[in-house]
Amino acid sequence: MLVWKESAAMNVLSQPRVYLVSRPSVDWDQVAAFLEDEGLPPVPESIRAGTDESAAVIEISARLCYMSYGRGRRDIGDFVNNLLSSKDGSVFEHVNYGFVFTGVSRSLTHELVRHRAGFAYSQRSQRYVDESDGSFVIPPAVERGEGGAGDEARAIFMEAAAEAGERYDRLADALDKSLPRDVFDSARDRRKAIRQAARAVLPNAAETKIFVTGNVRAWRHFVEMRGAATADWEIRSLALMVLDVLRSEAPLLFGDFSVDEMPDGTRTAAPMYSKV
Ligand SMILES: Cc1cc2nc3c(=O)[nH]c(=O)nc-3n(C[C@H](O)[C@H](O)[C@H](O)COP(=O)(O)OP(=O)(O)OC[C@H]3O[C@@H](n4cnc5c(N)ncnc54)[C@H](O)[C@@H]3O)c2cc1C
Repeated sequence: MLVWKESAAMNVLSQPRVYLVSRPSVDWDQVAAFLEDEGLPPVPESIRAGTDESAAVIEISARLCYMSYGRGRRDIGDFVNNLLSSKDGSVFEHVNYGFVFTGVSRSLTHELVRHRAGFAYSQRSQRYVDESDGSFVIPPAVERGEGGAGDEARAIFMEAAAEAGERYDRLADALDKSLPRDVFDSARDRRKAIRQAARAVLPNAAETKIFVTGNVRAWRHFVEMRGAATADWEIRSLALMVLDVLRSEAPLLFGDFSVDEMPDGTRTAAPMYSKV
């Protein structure tokens, strides 16, 4: 059986970190000016969003369609659920949340960036940034393995990651010796050429960091797709963490998701109102 000996040089991560770095806000003075200019009832008679500004954005945009300020449904929860159940999803695009995710693997971000509509991405570059001190993300199934075959799976992963890190360093060193200097405009361009080639030997488990901004319609779809039991465990765990944050930020917009625990101890999420 393979036995992994911990190496101080290799950093192995098992949990994503999720930072909510941007959230919506409302300029109530401007809303009041708009209502006054249009001869409509003032805030709060027109907008009944309470303290949840994310829901206020939805309400202000949705009411504009019919100029129904001060009329109709009086309860904001009822108002939002009616939009969700009738799949009036476009108004949910006005509310954006931006996250930084760290401690995620390149395989996770490859799946994440498949989500196109309503998302913006900025990811740590393997061409610019030296990966010599990079970390590796251990897949949840490997992380949880204990005893016997579980130990073996863990040892195989650790060995593969350590070898990949070492090969990256050796390949970068070899390229540093072999690539001529005079064909590059700058030292930076040459470093980039070395790193973009050396990264070829890094695995899917290489850790990355990514800034993701998405609107509520897009985040709801992401959590629905990636919170499903069929999704990969790592991205599912991230989707559940995102849901935890967004449910507390905007309970009216994410409160219809239910969370269940699978027999294997992992969590899943499913919305009452699917793909709005
Ligand atoms: C469990 C699971 C397994 C998967 N397995 C694979 C796999 O084996 N191979 C693989 O390649 N992918 C796989 N995927 C990725 C999947 O096919 C989607 O690419 C990914 O989930 C993004 O979904 P989306 O296109 O609905 O999302 P988004 O790109 O965010 O789009 C949201 C919605 O907007 C609409 N939309 C977006 N773009 C367009 C467009 N150009 N034209 C028309 N409508 C559009 C669609 O209604 C879409 O559902 C898997 C996903 C999951 C969750």
